[in-house]
Amino acid sequence: MSKNLSKIAKQKKIKYFLISFVDLFGVLRSKLVPAQAIADMQKNGAGFAGFATWLDMTPADTDMFAIPDPDSLIQLPWNKEIGWLASDLWMGGKPVDASPRVMLKKQISMLSKKNLTMKSGVECEYFLISQDGSNIADPRDIQSKPCYDQSALMRRYDLIKEICDSMIEMGWGPYQNDHEDANGQFEMNWDYADCLVTADRHVFFKYMVKSLAEKHGLRATFMPKPFQNLTGNGCHAHISVWTEKNNKFLDNGDRYGLSKVAYNFLGGIMKLARPLSAFFNPTINSYRRINAPPTKSGASWSPSSISYSGNNRTHMIRIPDPGRFELRLMDGSVNPYLLQAGIIAAGLNGLNNKLDPGEPLTCNMYEDYKNYPNLAKLPNEIDEAIKELEDSKEITEAFGEQVIKSYVKLKNLEINDFFKEESFDKNSPVTDWEKNNTLDC
Ligand SMILES: [Mg+2]
Repeated sequence: MSKNLSKIAKQKKIKYFLISFVDLFGVLRSKLVPAQAIADMQKNGAGFAGFATWLDMTPADTDMFAIPDPDSLIQLPWNKEIGWLASDLWMGGKPVDASPRVMLKKQISMLSKKNLTMKSGVECEYFLISQDGSNIADPRDIQSKPCYDQSALMRRYDLIKEICDSMIEMGWGPYQNDHEDANGQFEMNWDYADCLVTADRHVFFKYMVKSLAEKHGLRATFMPKPFQNLTGNGCHAHISVWTEKNNKFLDNGDRYGLSKVAYNFLGGIMKLARPLSAFFNPTINSYRRINAPPTKSGASWSPSSISYSGNNRTHMIRIPDPGRFELRLMDGSVNPYLLQAGIIAAGLNGLNNKLDPGEPLTCNMYEDYKNYPNLAKLPNEIDEAIKELEDSKEITEAFGEQVIKSYVKLKNLEINDFFKEESFDKNSPVTDWEKNNTLDC
């Protein structure tokens, strides 16, 4: 018996619910529903016109319903009257295949056939910027190596504390907050969890940071590369796969503490990194961060080639500790559900085909890349990534032909829209089109 939201509303004095969902482009959409109507909405869902969102529907399609998952309920720490809910999309009595949360659940269920679950944590970097997006918000944050700058961090104490206090209250287990490698850039870390929980929290985190930043007179952006000369916003993920209680990635006998299962899973991600870039780096602006020219701080902290290593941040995959690895490919515009879903799909391909990722590289990839001319490179621009996705048998099989076709079609419309107005050059300033379409990603 699932939780009764109407009862919970009375107990917790919730007056309104935000019944929300994320579309294929990662846009968070909602209806604000008074508590007196929640019983019916919990059962039948909140109605939406699918065509009005990024889901490849037509204006003639019937209503689409967002059915909230009561387990995802969050009472907004900064406004207790409101309860936030993540939802799955349904249409004509069936789940919508192109609903990203449904796509993730499908991958979770595929993985569960092997009695496995994935746990993950995400590191969502963001900038605090001026209202018009033209500059960072703090004019004194000008060091060329600003990473971990205590003064710049503490000038934002009121906001950072409110976000961190909120995470404590919600039980997420936050454990550190810092100023990152770009001027105006911050990161806050909380505990890893089951991948669906992490995906819902990732969606909520972005909403929370933007909302609380606004409350403090600031603007927050997760845009992959809002400023051409500064390090971009990554969204690294730490991955492990478990049976009920055991971490199946852990093998203390291995040099990095990873099991055969982990290397196979990792091998799948290496093999499918190019097509999956279309999910992991989904915006035109994403490709200013991938294969990036050097930044003001001296490093881009983002990958260019498909390689893995031990505790070495210059590779696409880093193994920082026994029993898990970090995928450093994704950026702040990644759809939180497709991030997790893409990793599982690739990992399953690796497990099923017992893929061997080969020997790790231990070099400084930012300097030594010229010594590895045969190493596979990541896509250099969005159209290359979309074409890879379109041609990927494996990803099409994992997600279904129609979903991939829809995604490719919508992304191509977006790409055409950009090239009507602009051209893409990583060495020139970020265009107005990118800012208008990505600052609030
Ligand atoms: Mg970081």
